[in-house]
Parts: sequence; structure tokens; C-alpha cells
Amino acid sequence: MQLIDIGANLTHDSFDHDRDAVLQRAREAGVARMVITGASREHSPKALDLARQHPGELFATAGVHPHHASEYTAECDAQMRALLAHDEVVAVGECGLDYFRDFSPRPAQRRAFEMQLQTAADTGKPLFLHQRDAHDDFVAMMKNFDGRIGPAVVHCFTGTREELFAYLDRDWYIGITGWLCDERRGLHLRELVKHIPAQRLMIETDSPYLLPRTVKPAPSHRRNEPMYLAHIVEELARDRGEDAATAAAHSTATATAFFRLPPR
Ligand SMILES: [Zn+2]
Repeated sequence: MQLIDIGANLTHDSFDHDRDAVLQRAREAGVARMVITGASREHSPKALDLARQHPGELFATAGVHPHHASEYTAECDAQMRALLAHDEVVAVGECGLDYFRDFSPRPAQRRAFEMQLQTAADTGKPLFLHQRDAHDDFVAMMKNFDGRIGPAVVHCFTGTREELFAYLDRDWYIGITGWLCDERRGLHLRELVKHIPAQRLMIETDSPYLLPRTVKPAPSHRRNEPMYLAHIVEELARDRGEDAATAAAHSTATATAFFRLPPR
């Protein structure tokens, strides 16, 4: 298997003491490439730095997560655009709306999202999107950019059937994480993933968050890491009624095309 983890927060402090070992374990588990999520002013430049240390293997996104929307000043906008000028930075985001946690005020979230949508329109780079409990505003804001933005992936999809079909109707891509493996809140996804066409489906760990609850034996820690993508693709394939190798090959081809990754 040659997997691509499209969402790994590898600049997170919890990896500071053993990042190289984490990357090595990922390789050994078949995770050939990773897109390092940039989600704040602090971490987006770090994501680029990390990608530059591993050319052709690691890539980065540059953006500001709705949790950090309050930091999205004009200066921040210029900083993100400068990062996006680099070839290693393959997508705008993580950006979007999160009305579940409301860590930033909603008007600030909408403003930061709007500005990053404009950046996507101006640069032509794909969008790496976050949406939680904000479906209607999210779709309305995306609609304002119809025909002006490139491809978009709704990362860590955890929503309803209606939301999934609304996204697929708009030709957006769907990122599936180990949330699928959570018997308390992810059961509905087991059924929903059958409806996602292979050419719209990508996989991600969202490391260090969302350690899949079905990993056996259960690790002694809670930290997720990219090597568990191999477990996620197995679970996903079983739910879709296909073999893991097929699901892996399709998601890798989809991610390679979506992020316009150079051939290996
Ligand atoms: Zn997210």
C-alpha cells in the first residue's frame, strides 16, 4: 500500500520529541506521503519548514483554522499568501467555520473564511476545509465563490447524510478520519461512506487528534500518528465492501490529483 495522509498536524508540540521516529513508522506502515496541516499563524510556517525538510514526501497547507479566526488580520493574510507562493504549500486552509466550539466569534470566523476563499480564488490552489455545526453558512459562503475557486475538500467529515450529499452535489471532496472508528459518535459514517464515489474520497489521520478507537491492541497513549492511516483504510474498505488495496489505491490517486502532487 502507498497511502497519502491528507491531514496530519505534525507540527504539533506532542511530536517535538520524536517526529523523525513518527515519520519512520508512517513509512513502514505504507504512508508514502503526507500533507501537513497549517492551521494558524504560528503553525503554517512550521508546516512549510517541515515539508521543505522532506521534499517530495511531505507537503503543507497554509491557513488559519476558525478557532484562530481572530488572528486573521491583513498582515496575517499577507503572511498566508506569501506561504502559498511556495510549491510545497499545496492548499489553502485549514479554514472554514466551527460553530460547535465557537472559540472565535462567528463574525470573525466568517471574515477569516471569506478572506481565505479569496486567496484560493486568487492563487488557484485547492481548499482544505473545516466545517462543524455551521453547514448552512458554510455552503452559502462557498456559493459566493462558485466558479472562482478550485477543488475543495471537506476534511474530517463527520456530518449527516444531507450534508454529505450537498457536498457531493457540489463536486467537493470528502476527507475521512478515524472518527469512523468511534462507536459512540461515528457509527453513521459506516453507512455513509458507501455513498462517496472513489474519485471524491480521501483519507487522513488528523494526527495527533482522533486516535482510532478500534486500533488493537489499544495504545497506552492517546496520541494519533500517521501510521494509523493503514488501520483507517482497512476499516473504511470493509464498510465500503472493497478490499483495502483497492481503497488505498483509489484514495492515493484521488489525493495525488487533488493536491497536484508531483510524480514520485
Ligand atoms: Zn478540522
